[in-house]
Amino acid sequence: MSQTNVVTRFAPSPTGTMHIGSARTALFNWLYARAQNGKFLLRIEDTDRGRSTPESREEIIDCLKWLGVDWDGEAISQFAHQERHRQAVDNLLKCGAAYKCFSTADEIAAFRHQHSGTNSPFFSPWRDKRDSDYPETPYCVRLKTPFSGKTVVHDSLHGEVAWDNHLLDDMVILRSDGSPTYNFAVVVDDHDMGVTDVIRGDDHLSNTAKQLNVYESFGWKSPVFTHVPLILDEGGKKLSKRTSTVGMRTYMDEGVLPAAMRNYLLRLGWSHGDDEFFTTEQAILWFSLTGLRKSAARLDNKKLANLSKRHIAAADDGQLLSELEKYRKRKRKSRFKKSVQDKILAAMPVLKSRVRNVSELDASSAFISDTRPLRYEEKAAKVLNEEGKAQISKLLPYLEDTDWSRDDLQNVIKTACARESVGFGHIARPLRAALTGSVNSPSIVDVMLILGRVESVGRLRDAVEWLEDSNN
Ligand code: GLU
Repeated sequence: MSQTNVVTRFAPSPTGTMHIGSARTALFNWLYARAQNGKFLLRIEDTDRGRSTPESREEIIDCLKWLGVDWDGEAISQFAHQERHRQAVDNLLKCGAAYKCFSTADEIAAFRHQHSGTNSPFFSPWRDKRDSDYPETPYCVRLKTPFSGKTVVHDSLHGEVAWDNHLLDDMVILRSDGSPTYNFAVVVDDHDMGVTDVIRGDDHLSNTAKQLNVYESFGWKSPVFTHVPLILDEGGKKLSKRTSTVGMRTYMDEGVLPAAMRNYLLRLGWSHGDDEFFTTEQAILWFSLTGLRKSAARLDNKKLANLSKRHIAAADDGQLLSELEKYRKRKRKSRFKKSVQDKILAAMPVLKSRVRNVSELDASSAFISDTRPLRYEEKAAKVLNEEGKAQISKLLPYLEDTDWSRDDLQNVIKTACARESVGFGHIARPLRAALTGSVNSPSIVDVMLILGRVESVGRLRDAVEWLEDSNN
């Protein structure tokens, strides 16, 4: 498909942690652009200098990169365009679509008090004054909103949503400190960036009405708006930023696979028939605004765990190794040596069948990168008692005598069980503890095959020695 003129954008305010709702907004806009072969832009709305922080900006960028939501061109800073915003305000002043308002905060408060109980918005007495009437006191700039008629948002999901103009005030577009307001800067930027489609949370619907008046004043064509319902928590309540699972960091820390997160985020408000599991390529192929749902989506951690497990199982082994390494880097854990990488890669088919996310993959592959002598977890140390030691000691010569093939190893253990008249677990438990330092691992034969003869035998001998030492 050749490039179309579709341009979407993600416009986060870097004022806090990256929230799951924002990540979903980013994903929808990204998918729409990719599905239409258009462009996806990133604009950091950092005009609120008091609340914007570089850390938050960094977190947004990190999360997007992690999620695989890539943007075209450089990330744009809204603050960097302040001069352009002021110039745009001047243009509206010149053509009479905006005016300087010298009303003080006290005067506005008095107006509100006088009109309390009515729906009347603030009516500025400066709307139709001339330059010659202006005092030399601070002023803001307001946009003239029509007194009658309606402002109608044509939303591609909700249809027409109308606001009576007489209920809208002449919104401030430039504050008295010379800074542009959010609803004004957004319009100028969206216009300058050629944005054709805006997908965002429906908490922005009333902003859209205000923004439409700005488009109108400039005579600019407005983008197509789509307001998606917010996400509710598992209990059906509005998400609060305090809920721990709503920050994207939590998911990154848990090692959810980005492909699984994309799948999950997409299902929070979008559907394609009964499909639950899809790859990103499928999502790009299928994504359209008609799949968006009008009702609010609910977080569903069970669904996420399930998708995460399925994406891990479906992922390419090499890609999983690279996700594991990225995860460890984020956690500031040591890098794998080449020999360990090779072993983990070879073991991946076994490892990935047992885990739901990359943090579990990290834990379950730890026995491969651990070096001798192992440190035994408390539960494993308990299994390595006199009886455990006896079983390992008796088994060692038989093991050393095998070709170290799956069949050989299985036979040795089976024969030992018969000889000792004990169940499989009786022998497997101390072996597992000695070989992995834990009580949880892939099957014991898989563990021995993954570690290889030299390392396995070495670890088993270590365990026997450790037991002897601890008995002295
Ligand atoms: N900065 C706004 C926010 O983070 C962006 C809204 C928009 O997409 O226009 O909510």
